Amino acid sequence: MTSSYVTATSIDDAVAAMAGGARPVAGGTDLVVGARQGKAPLPESIVAVHRIEELHGIETMDGSMRFGALASHEAIAADATVRERLTALADASAIVGSHATRVQGTLGGNLMNASPAMEPGGPLLCFDAPVTLPGSSGCGGVAPRDFLAGPGQTTAHPDELLTAVDIPLQPAGTGSCYVRLEYRQQMEIAVVGATAAVTFDEGKVADARVAITALAPTIRRVPEAEEALVGTDGGRDAAEAAARAAAAAAEPISDVRASVEYRRAMAAVITRRAIEAAVRRAWGETVPVPASPAVHGGLS
Ligand SMILES: Cc1cc2nc3c(=O)[nH]c(=O)nc-3n(C[C@H](O)[C@H](O)[C@H](O)COP(=O)(O)OP(=O)(O)OC[C@H]3O[C@@H](n4cnc5c(N)ncnc54)[C@H](O)[C@@H]3O)c2cc1C
Repeated sequence: MTSSYVTATSIDDAVAAMAGGARPVAGGTDLVVGARQGKAPLPESIVAVHRIEELHGIETMDGSMRFGALASHEAIAADATVRERLTALADASAIVGSHATRVQGTLGGNLMNASPAMEPGGPLLCFDAPVTLPGSSGCGGVAPRDFLAGPGQTTAHPDELLTAVDIPLQPAGTGSCYVRLEYRQQMEIAVVGATAAVTFDEGKVADARVAITALAPTIRRVPEAEEALVGTDGGRDAAEAAARAAAAAAEPISDVRASVEYRRAMAAVITRRAIEAAVRRAWGETVPVPASPAVHGGLS
């Protein structure tokens, strides 16, 4: 039962409330919906952060984009620069929950909830997007790989408010894609997901990043898959080698949605489809956003 609820209008107020034990709520689509579903009781003390102006907004700067913690999935998916230069993030944001979830749910809340199945996590890892958390450690940017610690766990201190995520715009010649295995296209979370970002130079893959979703305690990059792509033409053989490496690196669990065996088998399929679509985008072909429905139907 919540005994204290305050609304902060500045970052300092929110951090002060959190130092006093309050838990922040942004869109409430994890915190409040989870409490209603009986996953965890509402915290005793809550500070609402949705009126903090500085946490809103998506800004394109020289060479990077800054997403306020309150940027909604809907706004991110609709942003023209995201769709063009950070396409995997557009793919991921466009398939979070339902339209209502995307309008209400925020990037900051998604990251702090730290689900191993969260949609934007793979793209953020592949784009090496540091998160900013003013609070007890006074910390600037934390690399995403150092931030996600386990299912529902981050390395943030309880009084640290996530304020922004900065994502470097990807160099010319880059294509990226996030694909999830989904049993339906709305109100779904990833059964298995994969992100790929590939940068070509003179016809060869000069840089590759691959991350797997819902296949380990946290979303994680797979260096072996990335190595299998670099220096190749990014064709079918390379994509298959990288996909096998991703499946080998997976540590899936069995749950109500899929077995270990099915998840591992699908890890290779979904990773290959993400890589193939990222390569097509790098070559200037159109793969519509979100990629998931398109690639499951359109690529063999
Ligand atoms: C029906 C439904 C479908 C969904 N589908 C998907 C899906 O497909 N993919 C997916 O990834 N997610 C999905 N979600 C989960 C959820 O919508 C997202 O994770 C959303 O982005 C959470 O954001 P929020 O602002 O609502 O978080 P909140 O519920 O407000 O907060 C979540 C957690 O983060 C903390 N928090 C929030 N903001 C901050 C901050 N700025 N700094 C520090 N801590 C903070 C809160 O204290 C809480 O612990 C779904 C949820 C629902 C209800």
